[in-house]
Amino acid sequence: MQYVSTRATSASASRNPETFSSILLGGLAPDGGLFMPATYPQVTNDELTAWRQLSYAELAYEILRKFATDIPDADLKALTAKTYTPEVYRNAREGESAADITPLRTLEDENGRKLILQALSNGPTLAFKDMAMQLLGNLFEYALAKNDDELNIFGATSGDTGSAAEYAMRGKRGVRVFMLSPNEKMSAFQTAQMFSLQDPNIFNIAVEGVFDDCQDMVKAVSNDLSFKARHKIGTVNSINWARVVAQVVYYFRGYLAATSSNEQKVSFTVPSGNFGNICAGHIARMMGLPIDRLVVATNENDVLDEFFRTGVYRVRKSAETWHTSSPSMDISKASNFERFVYDLVGQDSERTAALFRKVDTHGGFDLSGGPGSDGDEFARVGEYGFASGKSTHADRLDTIRMAYDDYGITVDTHTADGIKVAREHLAEGVPMIVLETALAAKFNETILEAIGVDAARPAGFEELEALPQKFVLMRPNVDEMKTFIAAHTGL
Ligand SMILES: *Cc1c(COP(=O)(O)O)cnc(C)c1O
Repeated sequence: MQYVSTRATSASASRNPETFSSILLGGLAPDGGLFMPATYPQVTNDELTAWRQLSYAELAYEILRKFATDIPDADLKALTAKTYTPEVYRNAREGESAADITPLRTLEDENGRKLILQALSNGPTLAFKDMAMQLLGNLFEYALAKNDDELNIFGATSGDTGSAAEYAMRGKRGVRVFMLSPNEKMSAFQTAQMFSLQDPNIFNIAVEGVFDDCQDMVKAVSNDLSFKARHKIGTVNSINWARVVAQVVYYFRGYLAATSSNEQKVSFTVPSGNFGNICAGHIARMMGLPIDRLVVATNENDVLDEFFRTGVYRVRKSAETWHTSSPSMDISKASNFERFVYDLVGQDSERTAALFRKVDTHGGFDLSGGPGSDGDEFARVGEYGFASGKSTHADRLDTIRMAYDDYGITVDTHTADGIKVAREHLAEGVPMIVLETALAAKFNETILEAIGVDAARPAGFEELEALPQKFVLMRPNVDEMKTFIAAHTGL
């Protein structure tokens, strides 16, 4: 299996295909594109039938070996077995089995219209990013040990990504994490989750500023190529290919658990921000998984809903980006969207490069086929199963209340966006699976607002905010940051 950049042209810096291992530790391709498999591996009917018997870890192995062909089978098997265990996904709720890793729960089943929740948030940080990040931690440790190398992960977070990365990398040999977050801007729960880690390879840096200040510092350090090389700086952002491919597994799992024959289809609704999660659903569908609809659910930050309704992709300025009660979906542009657009334009990398150059120069592009548009491929979106919808703060409150009263569960704000949109797309005879992307305890302020009672906390999280916290406070000053990193990498 080889990987190509979505912007690879005969003249580009990434014209040669790469292996899985060679793109594992990297981010963007050198030409600014995203890595994609040169062809999608296909799943046969017999395989799908055989996979019905597998555990989650075994299924992950079968799917990943189609993509990570340069990792020996025995090694990959050990890595997936170590990653997807009930001990790691132990925060399953009452009525769910931790051994299922991503257990399903039927919410509604009326007139043949079935609504199902697939819990992806039972890992250590109570959000779906653990599903991929936990594998990444084990893959990184494996790859670094093999090359006798080390890696310093440097990133910025406003919430879920940073904590998922830290819990995945804690105690991993050869890896350090330097994570910036805006001082006193995250929720008390999120702050405590990150800052209570005492592992010597985890460095939490609270920046006196807002999230944009943090991101600017990451950019400044990343643009200093010699510093980056000397200190072996890397990232774990959502465009990392291994993260996307790890997420493909739970679409298969959800399908297999919700059906009894390969003749059946299911649809998925995905609370979306950077398009990483639903991009994995698209890949599963391209591999031959019988998915009917892939429904993108956004909050008030509706860049993606707008595209899937109109064919116009228009990124937002930061002043147009709302801070909402489903904050992990507050995005101004969707960093993985280029992967789908590449397929939509027939894997034409020249066109993909031109369209995303236009995003930089003109703030977007238009594939509606209308006068002055950049193409007419929007007409083909339906062939890929995509549909969309959006949800607001009022919708979230209503949905959390409704789920509490009618389904007897407390759902988080992002999942509420998903349920709201999913109910607008129910179809007879095709189960709709909503991906649950976080547990409610993480966003308790809104739960209280909606139903007036606290969200239940999984065992072990009761005293989280009372644990001792380890972090350093820093001004948004690039030189001080570099000095701090240099002092702690020992390189
Ligand atoms: C990251 C995140 C999302 C959005 O996922 P994308 O892959 O960025 O589309 C949704 N919900 C929660 C809870 C998240 O942490």
